[in-house]
Amino acid sequence: MARPLVTDVPSLDVLQAREAGLFTPGASLRLEVATTDADGCLPIVGKFTIASTADALTFTDELDGGGDATVPVVRQPMRFGGIRYRFRCPARSCDRRVEMLYLVDGYFACRVCHHLAYRSQRESSRERLLTKAVGIRRRLGWPDDPMEPNGDRPKRMRSVTFDRLRAQHDALLAEALTSE
Ligand SMILES: [Zn+2]
Repeated sequence: MARPLVTDVPSLDVLQAREAGLFTPGASLRLEVATTDADGCLPIVGKFTIASTADALTFTDELDGGGDATVPVVRQPMRFGGIRYRFRCPARSCDRRVEMLYLVDGYFACRVCHHLAYRSQRESSRERLLTKAVGIRRRLGWPDDPMEPNGDRPKRMRSVTFDRLRAQHDALLAEALTSE
């Protein structure tokens, strides 16, 4: 039997988590997870309260009344400013630093621990979009972190070039953020 693809299961990624304000210590968020079944219905497969501390997220499963799961968060300052966030996979003896966690059988873990195949067209195209956007940011001397605000025009760069690159950058980012 083929392994399920990463797109077949619900996921949480660092960009979404950051947009939702989850990396602010003290933040708390309710997360309802639904998947599409064969009939196109949306059964709820997970209901969590996620609480944020300085270095971890705690997932409380409200459906199973099960225990809490703690996912450590790694904050890595970037060379040109900003912070890169990653989850540390909570599965036993894994410890991988990842940008995506997947929900299978009621718990979040990385792609490898859940034995998910990584052939998602969508996700690889998203990674390409982000990589391109970061390439433009470097050319412009902006912080690598795509979530940081846009910077100014480098002194020696013509405005027409700058405008073109900035427009490209904004389009890439917008597309990356809306692809799942
Ligand atoms: Zn793992």
